[in-house]
Amino acid sequence: MALYKNASELVKSESADFDLVYTPGTKAPWSGIYICTNCRDEAACNRDDPLPPQNHRQHSTSKGDIRWKVLIKTQTGPN
Ligand SMILES: [Zn+2]
Repeated sequence: MALYKNASELVKSESADFDLVYTPGTKAPWSGIYICTNCRDEAACNRDDPLPPQNHRQHSTSKGDIRWKVLIKTQTGPN
């Protein structure tokens, strides 16, 4: 699981964006940390870069297909 120290630097969101599931190679819709729903491995990805492929670390074929969900979205620029 992703770690953090200062909860005051994170904002809880109920956005449905966090429920969307993507296949490897899909362009990341947001910059942030993604989690594989099958093996729980995490990967940091920049927006528009392809989400990591089938050989990503820790994912064995016994865990089914890789499916990415966004776990943490970065927010940049003026709020
Ligand atoms: Zn995986």
